[in-house]
Amino acid sequence: MVRCVLLDGTEIEIKSLKEINERGIGDQIKELNCVGSQLKTLKGLDKCVNLRSLCCENNQLKTLEGLEKCINLQELFCDYNHLRTFKGLENCVNLREFNCPYNKLKTLKGLENCVILRKINCHDNRLRTLEGLEKCKNLQELNCVYNLVGYNDIDGLMNNRSYNITKNLIEFKKLYMKMTTEEMDIYHDYLKGKEKILIKHNYDNFKKCQYFLDHKKELVERYNLVEFYNEIYLKKQKTVEGCAICCDNKFIQYIKCQNNHVICRECYDLCQNKRLCCVCRNEYQIKNMYYEKLKN
Ligand SMILES: [Zn+2]
Ligand SMILES: [Zn+2]
Repeated sequence: MVRCVLLDGTEIEIKSLKEINERGIGDQIKELNCVGSQLKTLKGLDKCVNLRSLCCENNQLKTLEGLEKCINLQELFCDYNHLRTFKGLENCVNLREFNCPYNKLKTLKGLENCVILRKINCHDNRLRTLEGLEKCKNLQELNCVYNLVGYNDIDGLMNNRSYNITKNLIEFKKLYMKMTTEEMDIYHDYLKGKEKILIKHNYDNFKKCQYFLDHKKELVERYNLVEFYNEIYLKKQKTVEGCAICCDNKFIQYIKCQNNHVICRECYDLCQNKRLCCVCRNEYQIKNMYYEKLKN
């Protein structure tokens, strides 16, 4: 049974797609629901130029051939079919939402003209790449879990614009390069195991996120994040010594070499060579050089 909603809102039921042309109602159909109708083809829709929404889940479709004239189609639901390609979709330039999970798709090619597509659901297929989505510059939501896809195509997919990062997109390692600090906080629990890529490619955002703060010492040590050594290895100690450069002794933070030459933090920051003590020229031991005066 096929249910149709006409442009004027009337709902009618027909037995097969063939009946559309027999009754001459093609151009009046706005919505079509033929879920579970054992359809092997979508042929018969060639007069449905005003069709906006088509639900044809649970059929035996191998292609989308038959949709060529449905240029106003906005929503297409074809879960649980046998689709291998998107042949037939070429003219559906107004498609906004496309659901095709549980098919046999090996490629997303065929979406080249669907440039305003906002949402595609193609999980549970046989995709190895996301090639084919490059032209979908308005894509906001993509669910492609349970495929054979790697993460190598995410850069091409990004189209130099940012996507709303969703739980589904987060499957792709390369997405971590594009995350903002706020997104890292939202997906805090997903950052584990991705520290290396975050530090290498998105360090400025990563070092501000909560996950980083939560694991700071561990991450600073593992990845030698020298800029945090000052915090991590800061030792508190009493000293009355003055700075070897400015001779002042009112400083709080200071640097001390293994030969106990004290330099105030301010002078140290001005030093050209931060690795050598400017008094004895010995190399600082990076985990043993940062001090703060213990107050009492
Ligand atoms: Zn000084
Ligand atoms: Zn020294």
